[in-house]
Amino acid sequence: MGSSIAWHLKSDPDFTGNVVVIERDPTYARASSALSASSIRQQFSTPLNIHLSRYGIGFLRQASRLLDVDLGLREPGYLFLASDAGEAVLRANHAVQKGEGCAVELLDPAALRSRFPWISDEGVRLASHGVANEGWFDGPALMQAFRRKARALGTQYVADEVVKLAPNAVTLRSGTMIEAGTIVLAAGPWSGEVAATAGIALPVEPRRRSVFVFDYQKEQGRGPPGLMPLTIDPSGTWCRPEGRFYIGGTTPAEGNDPPTAPLEVQHQEWDDMVWPALANRVPAFEAAKVVNSWAGYYEYNTFDQNGIVGRHPEIDSLIFATGFSGHGIQQSPAVGRAVAELIVHGSYRTLDLSPFGYERISAGKPIRELNVV
Ligand SMILES: Cc1cc2nc3c(=O)[nH]c(=O)nc-3n(C[C@H](O)[C@H](O)[C@H](O)COP(=O)(O)OP(=O)(O)OC[C@H]3O[C@@H](n4cnc5c(N)ncnc54)[C@H](O)[C@@H]3O)c2cc1C
Repeated sequence: MGSSIAWHLKSDPDFTGNVVVIERDPTYARASSALSASSIRQQFSTPLNIHLSRYGIGFLRQASRLLDVDLGLREPGYLFLASDAGEAVLRANHAVQKGEGCAVELLDPAALRSRFPWISDEGVRLASHGVANEGWFDGPALMQAFRRKARALGTQYVADEVVKLAPNAVTLRSGTMIEAGTIVLAAGPWSGEVAATAGIALPVEPRRRSVFVFDYQKEQGRGPPGLMPLTIDPSGTWCRPEGRFYIGGTTPAEGNDPPTAPLEVQHQEWDDMVWPALANRVPAFEAAKVVNSWAGYYEYNTFDQNGIVGRHPEIDSLIFATGFSGHGIQQSPAVGRAVAELIVHGSYRTLDLSPFGYERISAGKPIRELNVV
């Protein structure tokens, strides 16, 4: 987010200022953007998320021209599966998506079986398949490309940690104070912590998610084809191809999802949740073996699982760009563009992100995203 905003700012001919990105870990070892599943979809329940991601896919397709990078974009779609209990929500989401012009189709179990014969339809009442504008890409490469291009245009990267935020300045761990006309808070999972140093309540915290890289014994005529859609089981377990392997994960139960969890892979999640769900849904995955794994933090917005973007209502110089709760990397092009517009032109010029402003939090009016994977 920070580097996208920096690149969009420096690319705007009307912008005349300096941009400094303060990053405490230039290796990005724990950054969400380095540990993401880097997938992009249109299938959200919130229209604004659909529009953010729609701009995102167009941007990703042009990344080689805009950012000189090959992101390996693949577009086989997402496939959401719903049980009886999830059917009504899937239908309601479908209506929202159709209303926004998304290429999505509902499949009953018979249609699911004929389209994806390698999937078991056990316990599935309805499926939603995104037939265009959905897939995955190399997220860390996108982050590095934004950074490289922002630097080439004059953005300064300072390797230090913000320990105190104030309306027009930040104090760094080294003791340096940097003053600025505008400060953008884009500290990912640690955004709530940084906001707290200024006495601002921001409901964004780290929530650990484990990702498992797996393989299985491929047999002729069994199992998914090379480019299966990113498939989400009614249990919340998801999987998709990643090169010659597959990746998958799940959402821990609410009571088992603390903000303080260390960044360690939860191997029992594979044994207890991910493998059983995968083996049940894709019978060929019964023989799946984990070949690698990693854990990353979602920058989880506990208020409504949507991005928090825009100026602080009382501190005009402070802009938020955080809280995307597991769908931020696909939205980084659109959010970068929007925040740059806000800084350069004083208002959004293309996509109006004001519904995602901080005001909804102080007003207690959530815009809850129902499709959080
Ligand atoms: C396992 C996993 C799967 C995901 N899957 C997807 C997906 O499929 N699609 C999707 O769109 N999104 C996905 N996401 C979410 C996506 O990766 C994030 O929304 C996005 O990367 C957030 O970017 P960011 O720049 O806000 O945060 P980050 O990439 O975390 O960057 C924040 C940076 O701030 C720095 N920082 C923090 N505090 C300070 C401080 N005090 N001083 C200085 N620097 C500081 C950190 O070091 C970090 O580098 C996934 C995330 C995870 C963890």
